[in-house]
Amino acid sequence: MPEGKIIKALSGFYYVLDGEDIIQCRGRGVFRKRNITPLVGDYVEYEAENEKEGYVLTVKERKNDLVRPPVANIDQAVLVFSVMEPAFSTVLLDRFLVLIESKNIEPVICLTKMDLAEDRKTLDEYVADYRRIGYTVVETSSETMDGLHLLEGHLTEKTSVFAGQSGVGKSSLLNAIRPDLALKTDEISSSLGRGKHTTRHVELIPAAGGLVADTPGFSSLDFEGIELDELSACFPEMADRSSDCKFRGCLHLNEPKCAVKEAVAEGEIPNYRYEHYLQFIEEIKERKPRY
Ligand code: GDP
Ligand code: ZN
Repeated sequence: MPEGKIIKALSGFYYVLDGEDIIQCRGRGVFRKRNITPLVGDYVEYEAENEKEGYVLTVKERKNDLVRPPVANIDQAVLVFSVMEPAFSTVLLDRFLVLIESKNIEPVICLTKMDLAEDRKTLDEYVADYRRIGYTVVETSSETMDGLHLLEGHLTEKTSVFAGQSGVGKSSLLNAIRPDLALKTDEISSSLGRGKHTTRHVELIPAAGGLVADTPGFSSLDFEGIELDELSACFPEMADRSSDCKFRGCLHLNEPKCAVKEAVAEGEIPNYRYEHYLQFIEEIKERKPRY
């Protein structure tokens, strides 16, 4: 049975990408009865007489899914952060990183507007810090086209979603990679402002040998669903050391013989990363219980 990946869902049709072909399919009648909603990004089995009359027969198990935009099986999130306008913020970056780590999605940090960078020294230190943790950091400018080929290299053979504040240059990047798309530079960002419960349309577009969601992900930045004892697992440099803490389940707060706090004291973990951890701990503690 042929297999493919849903790249678009519109007016009751699913568009299944199989190699170079896109087959227009309907869902199987039993999906509705069984409450199965195929999502963009789903790997499916289908049958088709021709390119316009196919049927999606089975939906394969998902490795993850996002609610906004509704898309499944994301391999990586490209975290887009401008170095200026708006200014680079490590606390916002760490917030995005935690959310992405908690979903088991691989992050790629993409700095944009490098042509506007003023304080290169500080920036280089941050870049070195995040690389030491193990994160991929690419430095780009859509203005000068610097670094774009590096970003493209990371998109190959993966399904990616772009994330980041509005105005950081997400649409400019996508336009630079796929000039034929001619996305309005504020079109992507404006979709972030829509009502919370609006199900947004999302489409996966072939770009640089991979697929990229045309709508940015992670519009909600709260830690809903992340528990106190799960937070340090979302900081890889803490997760690596927590097995050396004296107490199992150490939250790295006031516990004695805490390997994480020792690493902070020795400068192996940057202070600001640990401070953001504490800030997020407080936020999770203050979260109102839901009934
Ligand atoms: P989005 O909201 O994240 O999609 O951001 P846009 O792509 O719409 O870009 C926001 C603004 O930043 C626009 O005015 C762009 O022209 C500008 N911009 C985007 N990338 C760059 C860049 O690399 N360098 C400079 N100087 N400006 C950029
Ligand atoms: Zn500890």
